[in-house]
Amino acid sequence: MKVVYLDNNATTRVADEALEAMLPYFSTLYGNPSSMHTFGGQIHRKIEAAREEVASLINAEPEEIIFTSCGTESDNTAIMNGLEAMPGKRHIITTSVEHPAVLNFCRRMADKGYKTTFLPVDKLGRLKPADVEAAVTDNTAMVTIMYANNETGVIFPIEEIAEIVKSKGTLFHTDAVQAVCKIPIDVKKTPIDMLSISGHKIHAPKGIGVLYIRKGMRFTPYMIGGHQERGRRAGTENVASIIGFGKACRLAGTLLHKENSKLRALRDRLEEGLLRSCPDARINGDSANRLPNTSNMSFEYVDGEAILLKLNEDNICASSGSACASGSPEPSHVLKAIEVPYTAINGSIRFSLSRYTTDEDIDMVLERMPVIIKELRDISPFGRNPVK
Ligand code: PLP
Repeated sequence: MKVVYLDNNATTRVADEALEAMLPYFSTLYGNPSSMHTFGGQIHRKIEAAREEVASLINAEPEEIIFTSCGTESDNTAIMNGLEAMPGKRHIITTSVEHPAVLNFCRRMADKGYKTTFLPVDKLGRLKPADVEAAVTDNTAMVTIMYANNETGVIFPIEEIAEIVKSKGTLFHTDAVQAVCKIPIDVKKTPIDMLSISGHKIHAPKGIGVLYIRKGMRFTPYMIGGHQERGRRAGTENVASIIGFGKACRLAGTLLHKENSKLRALRDRLEEGLLRSCPDARINGDSANRLPNTSNMSFEYVDGEAILLKLNEDNICASSGSACASGSPEPSHVLKAIEVPYTAINGSIRFSLSRYTTDEDIDMVLERMPVIIKELRDISPFGRNPVK
């Protein structure tokens, strides 16, 4: 049965081209890239070619790219490394809407005695660069701020923020897991010291990530052991996934602009249709400055979990920022931070599109959602005439 998959910020399908490139590395090309013999040595060269593809996507140098196991490892490593590189400084700045890979690591550092500032955002999910500037002190070791938000898609002004942070002599890391391959990123134009990427968000496999680290920056490895990744990340390389990652980056680089216009058109059609057909619906976040593939909408007086279950019956996959679907009984910290009203926060749904999303997928959601919302409101204790 056909699945309408609109949960691409959670994970993406591996591109056929990436899968095809990976397959030989599970069978005939299984050598260890660290081996002295030619059979293994040839794999080393393939890894370096993949590294070049990743580097070129963000205009970095290949030696600035370290392969990790995921976006979370890249984020944790970057923060730990930033703090090690600035001994004596005990202050971290981040935002209140980061992914848990950053948020919880910063909280851990707070438990260990670091002063941690979680900057607020406004009701559209926007961050003011002036707030970042005002928060930096002589004691600030590093600033870690995401490029684009995974729940709302809101893009932060990272170019401006990075300039401010660097002008103060502080380290800057950005979690670009949701931004890479969706918007152009150029680390030569923007003074970013460290940047995180995750394979499974960009049509590469799960279990592979990248940390970009600017040339010349002091680096303390997180994973200690062998000499892999120039001694910066020990452990035998995840060869097949690295090859898939390289291929996915090459594809994304060539398709980025074309895909963006297609995704934006599909996403906007979805939102306009739902706003028209479902009363009391709203878009969460700054609709003018978002990732082209992401839509976070609230349908007031309905439970997001119930909407997801109904969509699931039609094989439509989306996600909810509300409760148990995210593994937490609490409403989304991002939607709370942007002060989505309590009548709407529980009825929030994130639709996230990809290059494989079709017009028919959008038609299907546009057909089913008004019916689902009406059905749920009819059985809701608030009914269709809620007390506002
Ligand atoms: N950062 C952001 C913004 C994300 O959306 C995610 C995953 O959803 C991560 C980090 C973690 O990436 P991974 O799943 O590769 O550990």
